[in-house]
Amino acid sequence: MHEPITDIVIVGGGTTGWLVAAHLNHRLQWGLGHSDGVRITLIESPDIPVIGVGEATIPPIRAMLSLLDIDEDEFVARTQATFKLGVRFDDWDRDEGSDRAPDASVRSFVHPFTGGLQLAGRDPAASLLAYGLPADLTIDPQLANLVGHGVAAIAAHRSPRSLADAPYAGAINYAYHFDAGLFAAFLREVCTARGVEHVRDTVLGIDQDDRGHIAALRLGSGTRRETELVIDCSGFRGLLINEALGEPFVSYADYLPNDRAVAIQVAHDETHALLPATVSTASDAGWTWRIPLRSRVGTGHVFASGFMTDDQAVDTLVRRNTGFTQLTDARAIPMRVGRCRNSWVGNCVAIGLASGFIEPLESTSIQFVDYACRRLLRAMPSRAFEPTQIARFNTEMAELYEEVRDFLGLHFTLGNRRDTPYWRAVAHDAKRSDALAHCLALWRHALPDDFDPRSSVAFGAGSVRAVLFGKRFYTAPIATGTDLLPREHWDRYARQIGALQQILVGALPPHAEMLRMMVGRAA
Ligand code: FAD
Repeated sequence: MHEPITDIVIVGGGTTGWLVAAHLNHRLQWGLGHSDGVRITLIESPDIPVIGVGEATIPPIRAMLSLLDIDEDEFVARTQATFKLGVRFDDWDRDEGSDRAPDASVRSFVHPFTGGLQLAGRDPAASLLAYGLPADLTIDPQLANLVGHGVAAIAAHRSPRSLADAPYAGAINYAYHFDAGLFAAFLREVCTARGVEHVRDTVLGIDQDDRGHIAALRLGSGTRRETELVIDCSGFRGLLINEALGEPFVSYADYLPNDRAVAIQVAHDETHALLPATVSTASDAGWTWRIPLRSRVGTGHVFASGFMTDDQAVDTLVRRNTGFTQLTDARAIPMRVGRCRNSWVGNCVAIGLASGFIEPLESTSIQFVDYACRRLLRAMPSRAFEPTQIARFNTEMAELYEEVRDFLGLHFTLGNRRDTPYWRAVAHDAKRSDALAHCLALWRHALPDDFDPRSSVAFGAGSVRAVLFGKRFYTAPIATGTDLLPREHWDRYARQIGALQQILVGALPPHAEMLRMMVGRAA
């Protein structure tokens, strides 16, 4: 019989390292069904800083925190968290050829997290496209896009849940924004209290055995730490997977144009309206983000260095922050967009930025970490390192990266903007995978559904549809399928949705008030 792994070393103490530690610790050391005798050590360099951004998430984070037995109130209190019900995209969609004056009103659309409403098993969006809304109905047309009530709750600054709801549950689907530094510190405290060893030291090199596995890490303190299974969470440099083991990195630069970011933290303005959504606003050569936390607002500009300098990117961001007190200097961050050819090589599994990164437009990286941990725990090898387990993990990770890359491709390649060299280049040159091209051909004549190859693990059909509608992909009714309702049913249904929306959103507490109550309950 093969012997089980009993010693796991995690290299890196950013969000990824501590999340991996939390998952492994919960399954192998602390939680239900733990195995005695497993040792988990996290080695973090005291000299190499964490990336310090990554403050918006997507809804599966709730299941993750719940699984890890983390109290929701305490998490919100400790990390300055706010609720995120979706992403609002400002100025991503313009009339073709429009060189809109700066003061003209900006077109927005929302990718809300609540979706999937059906009527008698049918997708009501088909009827929306065919009939439009009843003339007397004043609800947001995108709500009638029937992706749920999230859009209305965002506009009304509502919480997705009330105090009476069970932890991690709400009437509206949600994720969080949080302070990345506080989140990592909170997880560190949880993990070390539950049995993870924390070592502050720098990995300088590795010793390999005759299989090419990492037999030991050579540390700055002079220690040689022997290893069985090593998790590389060292960030963009891929210290072990790429630098030490030489695994190639597959760039997605041909698909996704942006390769740099600048970030600035600002204080809330006086009105302090706490929007329960991330705002992404298109710029001349990329887009800026705005992430409201309880304590401050995180802002940043993601851009393509071939079309904009760091100084220009900062300049745009500072202008967009007018009226807000700047709390930090601008910080430039190069981005390595793509994935390792294989994230698991021998006894080394790369997770987080060391494994790969899709630019942050849909805030997916932290969820990749969760997904990788779940797949690793599923595929946990014995000391024989069964190749089938490794191959399955690598295939699953590659598919996830490709799926999300293509989801983001919708935002860029369906863009209606042609007003700057960047947007013209994106429209002409950004590559589409065969899978995405196939799906777009499908979606032209049929609404997206969860069986489509490009809407599954990270984002379902509701998300795809929100972007397609936001980008005005559909200009005519859908000709195929059987979703279309008789006109009178549709009118009645649309009115019912409008009424339901008012009741539901009206019953939810204001966002800021709900957070205050949760923080108070945690104290
Ligand atoms: P890092 O934070 O870089 O941590 C690396 C760790 O490795 C550090 O502790 C370092 O000390 C350690 N290390 C490195 N070398 C050594 C060594 N030799 N010895 C020992 N230790 C070492 N994600 C989201 O989910 N949502 C977002 O909204 C989002 N926005 C982003 C915006 C931008 C502009 C960027 C670039 C990323 C964004 N991300 C986002 C991604 C997110 O920042 C990361 O997924 C997250 O911070 C985890 O990073 P990490 O822990 O993998 O790497």
